[in-house]
Amino acid sequence: MTQSQSSSSSSSSHYDVIVVGLGALGAATLYQLSQRGVRVLGIDQFSPPHDQGSSHGDSRITRLAVGEGDEYVPFVQRSHAIWRELEARTGKPLMTTTGGLILAPRDRVAEHHGKSDFVRRTIACAERFGIAHEVLDAAGIRTRFPQFHLQGDEIGYYEHDAGFVRPEDAIGAQLAVARASGARTLTGERVLAVESVGNGDTVCVRTGSASFTADRAVVAAGAWLPAFLGAQARADWQADFSVHRQVMHWFDTGSATADFAPGRFPIFIWMFGDGPEDYMYGFPSSDPSQPALKVATEQYVAATTPDTIDRTVSAEETAAMYRERVAGRFPQIGGRALKARACMYTVTPDRRFVIDALDGLPRVLIASACSGHGFKHSAGLGEAIADHVLDRPSEFDLRPFARQRLLEKAPA
Ligand SMILES: Cc1cc2nc3c(=O)[nH]c(=O)nc-3n(C[C@H](O)[C@H](O)[C@H](O)COP(=O)(O)OP(=O)(O)OC[C@H]3O[C@@H](n4cnc5c(N)ncnc54)[C@H](O)[C@@H]3O)c2cc1C
Repeated sequence: MTQSQSSSSSSSSHYDVIVVGLGALGAATLYQLSQRGVRVLGIDQFSPPHDQGSSHGDSRITRLAVGEGDEYVPFVQRSHAIWRELEARTGKPLMTTTGGLILAPRDRVAEHHGKSDFVRRTIACAERFGIAHEVLDAAGIRTRFPQFHLQGDEIGYYEHDAGFVRPEDAIGAQLAVARASGARTLTGERVLAVESVGNGDTVCVRTGSASFTADRAVVAAGAWLPAFLGAQARADWQADFSVHRQVMHWFDTGSATADFAPGRFPIFIWMFGDGPEDYMYGFPSSDPSQPALKVATEQYVAATTPDTIDRTVSAEETAAMYRERVAGRFPQIGGRALKARACMYTVTPDRRFVIDALDGLPRVLIASACSGHGFKHSAGLGEAIADHVLDRPSEFDLRPFARQRLLEKAPA
């Protein structure tokens, strides 16, 4: 059992807001609340940053033109500004601008074909928001990035300000500044229930060893959200989320290390086939002491839970990743793997976020921003959520993430 630890600037057990879960979204929310001079408590079952949830593995892609939908753009734009502010405040590098390349076969993009249509949607989004970009053909990509071995029929969207964020450091920085600003955190303590007490104007958050009250609660439980909703007897909400194991692989860049360093190599998303898994994304080397090409793909077929997931990655999984996706596309990369890690996506049916009050418990905000693309928005979302739960005006619109849309789309 994990030792429970508390950091506190206040002995009171009533708070303005309690944040359950201090991963990407919870840490961002706690940080923003701590900057608004309110009494805030954050609780996590582990000691974030940690490698048990969805926010580990050295790097997360960030890009400003969000092919997943225009409603996300203000959040990633604000996140970039917040990470730069945090870098200045903590002296820690959090975000590296490398440029980003999203590429697919031109005919599939033109035909709005499956996953490849993401390139077209990204270009359209960049044009609408005036985001600096170039559209490259295969020759243009080859000239700039000879590391990619192309078929010759590709089209590429290149965004200058894309790059990667360091998830563990971003979470750690937000928690450190939040604590220094007076937020209390309790780690190694699992929240068992969140209930309404009094006249319905107070929320009680129960762990195995203590209870705390607050005016509002934010539940940012990541992959544990389905279990949390189950424990709250909310099978209706629980059914909207599924958890999927994903694997990240780091391949040794060997003698090509300089070619895969930030500055020479961009983050990339590469669609090369018809199936949803016929693609990979990747990163330049983020750790000079262990230079590597980090790559991953996605799977939505097999579901899992945080308690049953296989966290080990077999040698065969890494060999298959190399054989089926990396070999032939990056001729300079051999098959020597430096490490591999499993991680979890918490996915909704339309692969969009759910940030909404739990009906029946209007003072409890469920905040699930994953479906595989949440980190880049997390800092901005934390700011929007903080203002939302404090009933303060905000320039951000969280309504696109209301759960109602899933009910409207559900089959009769
Ligand atoms: C392999 C992989 C690659 C990804 N790549 C990208 C990318 O390139 N770009 C991008 O933008 N996004 C990416 N994502 C998505 C992004 O990482 C997630 O959207 C984000 O990390 C989710 O953050 P979270 O706060 O919801 O969950 P987490 O960071 O996992 O935090 C949840 C926290 O809640 C705590 N918790 C849960 N239940 C309880 C409880 N009952 N009591 C106390 N504490 C509790 C957990 O311990 C955990 O700390 C990727 C995700 C994965 C897995």
